[in-house]
Amino acid sequence: MPCRANAGDEWREQAPQIGRMPAQPPDGARHGRGSKKQPSMPGTSPMPPRFRCVPIPTSTAERFRRTGRDDRGNAVLRRRVDGPGFPCRHCLRMGVAGETMLLGSYDLPRPRGIYWTPSPIFVHAHACERFAATGAIAPIALDAGTVVSVRSYDAEEMCLYDLGRVCTGPEVAEPLARVLADPRAQTINLHTARPGCFLLTVQRIRSGGFELL
Ligand SMILES: [Zn+2]
Repeated sequence: MPCRANAGDEWREQAPQIGRMPAQPPDGARHGRGSKKQPSMPGTSPMPPRFRCVPIPTSTAERFRRTGRDDRGNAVLRRRVDGPGFPCRHCLRMGVAGETMLLGSYDLPRPRGIYWTPSPIFVHAHACERFAATGAIAPIALDAGTVVSVRSYDAEEMCLYDLGRVCTGPEVAEPLARVLADPRAQTINLHTARPGCFLLTVQRIRSGGFELL
């Protein structure tokens, strides 16, 4: 996947279109100063460029591969991809048939406190490129076979139940837009709804840099 990270500098100058974010491309009623056509990522739906999907750190993926141990001290398991349902939390792409994935437990950085959890995750057994696009929903969250749970937490690390949504991957743009538009949401995580596994974190983009969530 090409990395459009540099284009994010331009996108940051545009006013948000939060709250009107459909799964389909906007109808042209963009707000604010910028009216440039929004670039789209291959394999992803167009979204207003006010966010990025954040994978697990490369250091974590490499540690799983190097040590064979996960964040809980378990021996990581090796699984050969033989069908759907192997989302890599580092490149944020689905594993394809024949690839080998590592299955281990990951300690989520946020939320802390009562709602903190570890989560089972897959990562490619081989080195893969960390997802780095801005303004695009990552492929593993858009996957048609995945039911996604959108979860958010406030500044006190408490779950915002009223913003919680469960939807199919192709429908995730609308509930994600709703969360991004709500200033209470300080941590935004996507999980799989059926097994409940962490997929990725979503960060808002501020002018001059990424918001620290
Ligand atoms: Zn990967």
